[in-house]
Amino acid sequence: MIKRSFFGLAKPRFVYEPLDSPMKPERIPMPRKATLHFDQPLDRRDALSLNPGDKVKTGQKLVLTEDSDDYIISPVTGAVSSVSAFIGDFGASRTALSIDVAEEEEIDSGFSEVSGDVSLDNAAQYLQHLPGNPPFRALADPRTKIETIVVTGLDSDLLVATNQNIVQTHVNAISRGISILKKMTHAKYVIVALPPKLLKQAGGVGGASGTEIRVISEDYPSALPPFIMKEVLGKVVPAGKTSADMGVAFFTAEAAACVAKAFETGEIPTTKTLTVIKKDLSRMLVEARIGTPLRDIFAICGITLNDRDRIILGGPMTGGAIYTEDYPVGPETDAVMVQDSAAVSLVSDYPCINCGDCVRICPADIPVNMLVRFCEARQYETAADEYDLYSCIECGLCTFVCPSRIPIFQYIRLAKYEMAKAEAEIEPVEEAPVETPEDTTAEGAEETVEESQEETAEETDA
Ligand code: SF4
Ligand code: SF4
Repeated sequence: MIKRSFFGLAKPRFVYEPLDSPMKPERIPMPRKATLHFDQPLDRRDALSLNPGDKVKTGQKLVLTEDSDDYIISPVTGAVSSVSAFIGDFGASRTALSIDVAEEEEIDSGFSEVSGDVSLDNAAQYLQHLPGNPPFRALADPRTKIETIVVTGLDSDLLVATNQNIVQTHVNAISRGISILKKMTHAKYVIVALPPKLLKQAGGVGGASGTEIRVISEDYPSALPPFIMKEVLGKVVPAGKTSADMGVAFFTAEAAACVAKAFETGEIPTTKTLTVIKKDLSRMLVEARIGTPLRDIFAICGITLNDRDRIILGGPMTGGAIYTEDYPVGPETDAVMVQDSAAVSLVSDYPCINCGDCVRICPADIPVNMLVRFCEARQYETAADEYDLYSCIECGLCTFVCPSRIPIFQYIRLAKYEMAKAEAEIEPVEEAPVETPEDTTAEGAEETVEESQEETAEETDA
């Protein structure tokens, strides 16, 4: 993973480890309980459209409140057992929905009724939460004009092999998915970004007309979308803009393959492939229903968690720690990593020693040592205006090399989140008014509102 220079002052190289041959994913059995996350807070209990006891089918669109545009797709068939509040990243209030899985699976017919019409609108209405999280919502905005589609076959974080394996095993599906994506977006160009080792296996992807394969380096972070924008397309995303604003849409290889499957079968794929990185850094691929608790995956992979071991959702560079094995697989979960307590490097209180390692390693040429000072001091506007906050491509390299173990990357992400929140004039989210037991969700707090749901149901019945 890391190749150190012989000369101490040169920056170390971090290298992806491309798969030499395909791996056979282990299939995780259907969970007994699935948990799904809404990005919205649980603050309008009287307007909930989902209540304990409600039946749901696989592939059914679920909305938290009747008037909501945001939806998730049920990956299982069963009955809602609870609707709970939990605290997500950066202290944001979110909602978790638990479903007791039924023995017999029923497939919802909503998508199959419209799947004959290959359109961006239908994709945005039903396929936003396909495995790989394709950006259909953003693309369906009439102001967005997509010229180029980029399909990435190299996973964006180190040690992760999810999309590489899909390239090796689903070339034809990716190719058909690309044709569908071209048709619905009217994109002129399609680029498939691959490391040199996958060129041979992925040769068939280049068959779709207008599709070009571009080789990307095996040096981290060459597979991150902002890096591909700059190095492959020669475009720099300006501060506050996205690649979609510049006419470029990114899809993972998994998302492209799932698009083909969805439109060809009329059923929404609900099984996620993910890389499990064990304590000894060996890796396994698994296929699990979205909503499956990580605990089920660890059991199949033979992983035992001990006190102070750490679970990281994602890879070693950009993943985030979570505090419970009950955390579910989501459509965006490409990897889960377990670190032995002895290998966990704790954040320290050491001050910055101005060594300059973060500045030397930063691929975006940011004065990181200065940026982090302003982020730490919560002076976010200065960080953005004077120290290139928005040029950060979120690779995590600075945190990895910092000898003072300052969580630079996390400070930067928090700064961007706070700036976005301020710009959207989002009100601070109210804390849930009841006790929150620890260690039940991502950031440790969950509040079950089953009882209040039942009360609401009774009132409605009356
Ligand atoms: S995460 Fe750190 S190293 Fe990476 S681009 Fe941002 S500031 Fe630079
Ligand atoms: S790597 Fe850490 S200690 Fe060194 S200059 Fe950057 S923030 Fe300071």
